[in-house]
Amino acid sequence: MSSRKIILAIDGPAGAGKSTIARRLAQRLGFLYIDTGAMYRAIALWAVRTNTDLADSHRLEQLSLAAVLDLAQDGSVLLNGEDITALIRTQQMSDAASRVSAVPAVRRALVQKQREMGARQSVVMEGRDIGTNVFPDADIKIYLDASLEVRAARRLHDLEAKGDHRSLDHVVREIRERDQRDSTRGEAPLRQAIDAFLLDTSRMTIEQVEEAILKIYRDRTSNGKELGR
Ligand code: C5P
Repeated sequence: MSSRKIILAIDGPAGAGKSTIARRLAQRLGFLYIDTGAMYRAIALWAVRTNTDLADSHRLEQLSLAAVLDLAQDGSVLLNGEDITALIRTQQMSDAASRVSAVPAVRRALVQKQREMGARQSVVMEGRDIGTNVFPDADIKIYLDASLEVRAARRLHDLEAKGDHRSLDHVVREIRERDQRDSTRGEAPLRQAIDAFLLDTSRMTIEQVEEAILKIYRDRTSNGKELGR
């Protein structure tokens, strides 16, 4: 096995299946799993709790620089030592995260933390700008997509499991607005890196997506041995 750190970047819009797939792949490969969306959500939570105006870039920058973020491998998220896992998975936080993530100074602070995490060990990192901006030289780049209807149905299912009942129309609108904001912002917008593999997961099972990415990984690295470069 090569001692070089490997970066597997997974980007895509909301509900494409990034978190589920990234977590499973990290487990299979023995890599660290990093959910960068959770980092933006954590800053959003801190901002909302402190009544920070979500357009106050100076204050948001201060929060982003000061935040101590721990992403545990079981998926739990700690902000300054407090477990905020459940608190950041609400519709309100999805929306607030998308707003604070458009602030360039917030992105700078969090991207710095993400690069440090990726420098220490091999990672599966998922988000919106991992292959384009955080690690433009990532060994493997995947862009996961699915139709808006499928992504909304998945999100509805997740919310219902948490007792948050919404209409499908409401979730479609929320996802559409968030994708629109994420892909049109000036700083590191959501887009497919030119050298990313596109996987449309609309008609694929989790297992099929996982196997497809593992195959790409093995082809690129000759089963973990470095041949990719
Ligand atoms: O992936 P998740 O839905 O948890 O991300 C929440 C929000 O954080 C996204 O809608 C996006 O605005 C922002 N985000 C980002 N860049 C990333 C990851 C997430 O801008 N790398």
